[in-house]
Amino acid sequence: MSAAENHAPVTLITGGTRGIGAATARRLAAAGHTLVLGYRGNTTAAQALAAELAEAGTEVLVVGADLSTDAGIDTLFTAALERFGHLDNVVNNAGATLHIGPLAETPSDIVREVININLTSAVLVARRAVREFLAAETPGVLVNVSSTAARNGSPNTYVHYAAAKAGVDALTQGLAAEVAPHGIRVVGVAPGTTMTDIHADAGEADRPKKAAARIPLGRAAEPDEIAAAIAWLVTPDASYTAGTTIRLSGGA
Ligand code: NAP
Repeated sequence: MSAAENHAPVTLITGGTRGIGAATARRLAAAGHTLVLGYRGNTTAAQALAAELAEAGTEVLVVGADLSTDAGIDTLFTAALERFGHLDNVVNNAGATLHIGPLAETPSDIVREVININLTSAVLVARRAVREFLAAETPGVLVNVSSTAARNGSPNTYVHYAAAKAGVDALTQGLAAEVAPHGIRVVGVAPGTTMTDIHADAGEADRPKKAAARIPLGRAAEPDEIAAAIAWLVTPDASYTAGTTIRLSGGA
């Protein structure tokens, strides 16, 4: 049965093939969603997750596209719409930290790349998502994935990433007010340190272990603990939640 016939919600997750995005995909698959999962280059991880979800009966499309380009964003949304016709939810999750250290010691090309994927691309993905919701007159939900870095500034770690995520929080608040009159909800989650490969990819695999000491709950989050909040935000139970970012920080 196709997504249109069984009325399964169609949810697009950027960066949906690893980490928090993959945990969200598993939760939403279990809740009966049809999924479009974007990724950049790790085809092995994307195909493995797609096979796992399809085996369990989920209709899933994976699309490799670099969202730091306009063409990549268009490729992802066009593929999703060609396959499923419409989108009910978009989880704006793709991100990367790439490097850890004080700003003065961070190469300028890394600063640009981090701000591009975590802020510029997030704004452009949000723009495309609400354009599609508005065109289809769908009461869609957009969930932006921020970070607790937006508030604490991440000194000596990645202040440029923190600045980008603070921009995402402003995006959530402002865009929510723009589109709420159309029945569209824009919401956010701000995870604290979470057990994913983002840290190893930035050169510090043991970062979650090091961070545990300053987290009141005494540990980093599991990806599924972040996915649980995202999954709730796209349900009708969250129907009065808009323009806000839920902080998932273990008390930090
Ligand atoms: P992750 O495990 O490293 O996964 C990142 C995902 O994003 C992958 O699917 C990756 O694709 C995709 N991606 C990265 N750059 C992309 C690009 N230019 N174009 C398209 N896709 C791209 O990351 P995560 O830890 O789950 O993080 C998910 C979100 O949570 C990010 O926005 C991050 O900033 C935020 N966050 C994470 C933490 C944490 O401690 N983990 C804390 C706070 C906030 P490939 O697999 O192809 O590379």
